[in-house]
This record gives sequence, C-alpha cells and structure tokens, in this order.
Amino acid sequence: MPELPEVETVVRTLEKKIQNRIIRNVRVIYPRIVSSPDAESFSADLTGQRFIGFDRRGKFLIFRLTDKVLVAHLRMEGKFFVYPKKTQPDKHTHIVFELDQGELHYNDVRKFGRFWLYDNDEEIEAVKGLRYEPFDDRLTPEYLKGYCHGKKEPIKSQLLDQSMIAGIGNIYANEICFEVSMDPEHPCGLISLNKWDEIIRATRKILARAIEAGGTTIRSYTSSLGVTGLFQQELNVQSREKEACYTCGTPIRKIRVGGRGTYYCPVCQKKRAVFAAITGTIGSGKSTVREYIESLGYKAISCDAINADLLKDEKVIADLSAMIGCDPASFSKPVLKEAIFRDARLKKQVEEYLHGKIWQVICRFRQENEDEKVVFVEVPLLFETDWYRRFDCCLLVYSRDETVIRRLRENRGMSGQEAERFVASQMSSDTKKQMADYVIMNENDLDKLFNNVEKTLNTVLKLI
Ligand SMILES: [Zn+2]
Repeated sequence: MPELPEVETVVRTLEKKIQNRIIRNVRVIYPRIVSSPDAESFSADLTGQRFIGFDRRGKFLIFRLTDKVLVAHLRMEGKFFVYPKKTQPDKHTHIVFELDQGELHYNDVRKFGRFWLYDNDEEIEAVKGLRYEPFDDRLTPEYLKGYCHGKKEPIKSQLLDQSMIAGIGNIYANEICFEVSMDPEHPCGLISLNKWDEIIRATRKILARAIEAGGTTIRSYTSSLGVTGLFQQELNVQSREKEACYTCGTPIRKIRVGGRGTYYCPVCQKKRAVFAAITGTIGSGKSTVREYIESLGYKAISCDAINADLLKDEKVIADLSAMIGCDPASFSKPVLKEAIFRDARLKKQVEEYLHGKIWQVICRFRQENEDEKVVFVEVPLLFETDWYRRFDCCLLVYSRDETVIRRLRENRGMSGQEAERFVASQMSSDTKKQMADYVIMNENDLDKLFNNVEKTLNTVLKLI
C-alpha cells in the first residue's frame, strides 16, 4: 500500500510529466472509482481543464486545475501511467485522461482507489478529517499528548489515526515505534512529552529519508509511475519476521495490533512500566497520597527521601564540600544552605548536581521495577522544572489555596501572613492543574482523599 513518501513521489513525478497539460477528454471505464460527482459530470467538468498545481495531503493526491480541484486516493494498488501517445487501456485501467499531448491512465487491480472533483473555492470534503502533516509546526508533543489523553489505543494503532497526524501508514508506524524503542502496544494516553517529542522527530526523519529515496527513484521512472519498492532497504523491522534485529540481534517478531501486522524487536522495544509522577505544593498532601499508593502495593519513591539519603552519602558529601569550599568533616545541611543562600550561581551548580544524582536513583528504581504495570515518583517541583516532560503521567494533589494556608499555619507554625505570602510565591495551582494529566482533590477529609486516589488510579490503570 502506498504511504506518504510514495504518494509524495507520485505527485512530484506527475508534476514533472503533466504540468500544464490540458485535458481534452476523460473516459471513465469503471464508474465506481469516481466518488463524486457522478462519472458523467466528472468527465464533462474535467474537459478543457489544465493541470496547474500538484499537492499532497496525507495520502491524498491533489491536482489543482484551471478552475477545479481533482483529488485522488490510491488506496491499496492504485497507479498512474503517463503515455506520450494514445494507448490502449488494459483490463485494470479504470480512467483514461486524454491530454493535449499524450495520455494519463489510472490503473487499479483491486479497484479500491477513489477520485473526487471540487470547484476551486469549495472546501475539499475528502481531506476534511485529516489533521496536521508530519512536517507541520503545529504538530507538537503538547498537541499529541492532549489528543491522546485518556485513550487506551496502542501507540502503533494511534499513529495510523489520520485525524491526529495525516499520512502515517502501517509500515512507517512500525518503523517509528522501533526508532523510539517503544513497545507498539503501549497505551497512547500514557506517554511523556519527551517521548512524544522523540516520536515526532523519528516520524520526520523516517519520512524525510523515504521521500528523499523516492525522489532519487523519480529519475528511473519512465512512462510508468507504478508505486513499488517502498524503499525497503531503509526498513528496520517491517517484513523482517524472525530476522535478526540490526541493533541487538534478537529475532524480530510479528504480531497483530488493531488487526494490522506489527513488527517489533522484543528486546529493543520491551514493555516498560508506566512512569507516573505525584506532585503538589507543600501542604497539599502529596506525601500522604504517595504513602497511600505504596500501602496499596504499588512501587513508589520520593525525591525528598532520595535527597535526604544523598546528603548522608560520603561521595556526595565530598563532592558538595568541594563545591562550596568547606571541610567534609564539618559538612551539614545548614552549612550547605548557608553557602548557597546568597550565591545564585553556586546554588544552581549544587542543584544541578543533586538533581542529576536524584534522577540516577529514580532511573535505577524504574529499571528495578520494570515488570510492574506502573511505578510512582513523588516530585515536589515537577512543573517548576522540565521534569514533568519526563513522565508518562503527572498526578497533581490539589487543595484550594485557603486549605493550604490553613495547613501551613496549623502544621508548620507559620503566621497567616507568612502562609499567604508563601502560597503567593508558588506557581499558581491553576497553572499546575492545566499541566497535570489527572488531579486528585484533597480538602481535609482523609477518607475522601483516599477515595479520590483510588478513583484516579483506576482511571489510569484502565488504560494499561
Ligand atoms: Zn533489538
């Protein structure tokens, strides 16, 4: 089946071959190939039109004529042939466009291809459902994550959804999943922004390479525009069942995902636990939530706890002491705090060092629990840093500002003014709410909180 790069190649080839040709007559041999209007009007309306522009939208070919737009979809086996002179149609030729010079034939063994004809100023109904092209700037990780929120479709199937991205077919969806080392069955509603970013880059890289390879084959086309070849030398997993993975040597497997043949490397594209973050402001109850989730039998870890452990680690103490210029023997948390309090550059350096170390511990934790369905990490400043982009799912424990202020006064001994000033200095809860995938309300009733946690967990687990 022709995919975006092949369709692009066909469009560019036709542009070279029939640009500015005038249609003298059209013979529709198999009328069902024409979706709209009826075959008779189709022929009549095309007569006298000149081929002016050649575009592609998704896998649709779009020919701009003098005052019409001709749209075609090749589906499984559609092919165009350009002949320099009058040529006898064969048994698979369904439309003959007689031109002022030569002829354009449409052949289709399976007869699945379709044509549409529109007026110039009319909306092109056939491509209305298509969303962004792979190279469109509006195709961003945020758009894709938002689009897939709450969906359990496997990523491999979701990449084929033309109303999300236009133009990715089965072969390239398989290749994209391999390129980003992703289990093709991973639920699309639980993918991090960073992973979506990788997916976009991989999509562009793979399609661009294929278009380029297609472009180089244009020269070898003569009269035939038969779409074959699919640039197979470029493919890593497609149609390579039982052959060795080029990266790790493991035999490539073939399964069915959403009814479509799916090729993948079971090692490079291993199933991984969903990576979830729990966050919330101080006093929101995020630690209570993490502890409750742990009590339910899930694996969870806390950044604050990791940080506390690191500050007791000899190697870390030696590194930090050198950084702030103190004797390791006299190193303590207050000494560190004092040293970085007035030195923004040093503070940044220390934070970067500790964040790097914390992340290493988190990655180890994730790896050790790879066989779990989901692992949780409590991250205090999730949305204030770029860490929220690293998690498949961000859970926000949310309390109204008044509730947080009351808790800070009651539990941390802050004055009313101090508590208010503290809350005002934090990133706003509304911003966090918008950035979070799921919000867990916590308004001081523990039973209700636990109930909310379970509801959210069920929502997430339903996707896996
Ligand atoms: Zn492999």
